[in-house]
Amino acid sequence: ERAAAEAAPVTPGALADGTAIPLLANLGSSKGAAEAVELGAEGVGLFRTEFLFLSSKEAPTVEAQRAEYAQLLRAFAGKKVVVRVLDAGADKPLPFLNDAPEENPALGLRGIRALRVSEQILRDQLTALAQANEEAGADLWVMAPMIATVDETRYFTSLARELGIRVAGVMVEVPAVALLAERVLKHADFASIGTNDLTQYTMAADRLLGTVANLQDPWHPAVLKLIEQVGAAGAANGKPVGICGEAAADPLLAVVLVGLGATSLSMAPAALADVRFSLGRFTADDAKRIAQAALDADDAAGARAAARAAAGN
Ligand code: PEP
Ligand code: MG
Repeated sequence: ERAAAEAAPVTPGALADGTAIPLLANLGSSKGAAEAVELGAEGVGLFRTEFLFLSSKEAPTVEAQRAEYAQLLRAFAGKKVVVRVLDAGADKPLPFLNDAPEENPALGLRGIRALRVSEQILRDQLTALAQANEEAGADLWVMAPMIATVDETRYFTSLARELGIRVAGVMVEVPAVALLAERVLKHADFASIGTNDLTQYTMAADRLLGTVANLQDPWHPAVLKLIEQVGAAGAANGKPVGICGEAAADPLLAVVLVGLGATSLSMAPAALADVRFSLGRFTADDAKRIAQAALDADDAAGARAAARAAAGN
């Protein structure tokens, strides 16, 4: 099997008309890197750094982080690797970053908010990333989670550049930042949409709560409309817009996301093959038409059905 895979390398992600849509991997450690490459990942679209430090009581040193990041970046030398700075809080608590109990942790001091309060931890992480990539030579992009304002965007991207990061962007997970994407993207090199949190916050439905799971559906036209705004802002500013939430792993939704303006898709490596196949069935015009059908629906089930019909499935 391995020999067969090597004999026939997986083709890059593309639409039927040849439009390239790079297909990237979501990773939580460098252990999955080799498998991701075998499955055809063209790089990493989301490296969740907090998973490296979930059991740490103390903030990791620059040296310890540099070693971790170098392993990942070496595995993708010459390829794009999007690293997310620590997303502490809510479903991913880190004792050294946010220890205070909160009534509503998803709405609390998480992501960039926690890092800004403990700025030295953010500085150390950005420094470690820049140093690690000096030897590894990947195309390193770094982004911040839970950005909600233009001010946070400017804060993060200017600090990242000051510390030697060449490409600095923001995750779009909070509806406020999707609504102001046009202004946010003036200060960021790229946006990456985290559809898990964007859905949670758009629908006001806790992503960890089974009783409201029916609302935690990225097919909801309200979520799609926000994504469309980000896609349009990216196109207007010439800035890439990736998707790194679970939505990108749904083969038909992936086509819709591209129709809404996504320029790359990142997912669990196991999903890459099905998404690659699905994208190859449609042109950019098809994708726009299918996306419009989904946008015009009243709810998630309607959007799914409308997209299926428009896709001829
Ligand atoms: C997201 O919110 O969609 C995302 C990619 O980040 P995480 O799932 O790690 O919160
Ligand atoms: Mg998130």
